[in-house]
Amino acid sequence: MENWLTKRAALSPNKVALIYQYTDFTFAELNSTVQLYASKLFNFGIKKNDRIAVFSGNSFNGYVATLALQQVGAQIVFLNTRLSAAELSFQIKDSEAKLVLADDSIKLDQLRKIDEPVTVMSKILSMERSPAYSPVAEFNNDEVTSIMYTSGTSGRPKGVLQTFGNHFYSAIGMSLNLGINDHDSWVMTVPIYHISGFSIMMRSLVYGIPVYLIEKFDVKYINNILINERASIISLVPTMLKRALNDLQVGQTYNDNFRCVFLGGGPIDNWTLLRCQLLEIPVIQSYGMTETASNVVALNFQDAQRKVGSSGQPLFPVQLRITEQDEKGVGNIEIKAPNVAKGYLNRPDLFAAKMTDDGFYQTGDLGHLDDENFLYVNGRKDDMIISGGENIYPEEVENIYAKIEGLESIAIIGESNDDWGQVPVAYITTADKTFLNGPDLIEYGRSRLAHYKVPREFRLISQMPLTSSGKILRRKLDQVDYEKL
Ligand code: ATP
Ligand code: MG
Repeated sequence: MENWLTKRAALSPNKVALIYQYTDFTFAELNSTVQLYASKLFNFGIKKNDRIAVFSGNSFNGYVATLALQQVGAQIVFLNTRLSAAELSFQIKDSEAKLVLADDSIKLDQLRKIDEPVTVMSKILSMERSPAYSPVAEFNNDEVTSIMYTSGTSGRPKGVLQTFGNHFYSAIGMSLNLGINDHDSWVMTVPIYHISGFSIMMRSLVYGIPVYLIEKFDVKYINNILINERASIISLVPTMLKRALNDLQVGQTYNDNFRCVFLGGGPIDNWTLLRCQLLEIPVIQSYGMTETASNVVALNFQDAQRKVGSSGQPLFPVQLRITEQDEKGVGNIEIKAPNVAKGYLNRPDLFAAKMTDDGFYQTGDLGHLDDENFLYVNGRKDDMIISGGENIYPEEVENIYAKIEGLESIAIIGESNDDWGQVPVAYITTADKTFLNGPDLIEYGRSRLAHYKVPREFRLISQMPLTSSGKILRRKLDQVDYEKL
């Protein structure tokens, strides 16, 4: 394919490409800014196929630098800015990045502690442009453009090799689901270094629609954009959605052009979905992972109300099947699609082990389909608890408890037990434990769930262990100090 940015700038030069801090940039303006920056990168010595790590949040500089690296033909290694120095060092070494390009408008404390070479973005700006520079002519489908590490929820993060083809088919699948039109725009508050954020940037080039680039998740600022501007789609993870809902004043709704919250990254509780229904905020649930370059399954508008709790149907380019189903139909979610990544960096063995002979990627997640083939994700296979021969999915139980007032967060894991093999126990956080006690919480569960699913014990902890992307680190829970409730 022709270079997406130059092609887009030629096709729709005067359309808005980016809205940053209330300033609009057209595709022609964005392209010329990016080409100038790319020419400076080139002069600095960055060439096609170089691997460059980017340390940036959702800043204008970071957005331009990311696009510019693509124009030079470099592979971008996205660093999560919330990682520790040791984690950053691992990813920079593992990816063999030639250098780290860091946005010096943000805090670089962790980067100062690492040995690898760091260049700040403003230094590139001070370079001369190179007369020898020209943008790459093509974005080839099988060419790796981004390397993104998984969240590390189940173990050490893996570097996922994502190609232009992966991003293209991801964008196409999404547009066929959402029916993108000329009035659409996408709010990007999820980080650019996650697939949820980066995919918005890539889609914007394919669709020719503006991105509202939001530097930090300031709930008032975001609600203001959704209420008072023309923003039509926003990608959020469940915790962000809850915060946005909590901040809405009585009677406030999003603007007329608003179409939906696109929700991904993890499970959402039914209570939050119900609140969205009451507020008439359409929510499109979705399911995907770094290895599939964004979503592979999503609900569509018509079904959003009817299929609450489902992640939807496989997008057009995606085949999905459930293998090794138990008697309730729950089994392994497997995906075959042109957006399944090329592999793991330096770990071809690990990736090959997840591919079946007929080309399906074994996600490691469990799910089931209903009679109309809508997917319900039950959780990660590794998290499933087997108690007396019965399967317990922690998310199902957590979901039941999510609406208890005052309970901030809950995570359920299995604990070894002589009689049952494993029994579920719950770890919770709360700002005020006055109204929470173990026997009541157990009673609450027993009236709503099969008894074997109800946690045997409720344990109060001061803080939930989280990954740098905010997911609960269940495997750390058994090492945390707790108070039995
Ligand atoms: P690691 O692979 O390093 O353990 P991770 O799997 O958390 O980390 P990501 O690629 O960011 O890294 O997350 C994808 C995972 O998130 C999916 O495999 C799935 O377990 C979970 N997930 C995504 N969407 C949903 C959803 N709608 N419902 C439930 N879980 C989801
Ligand atoms: Mg994973």
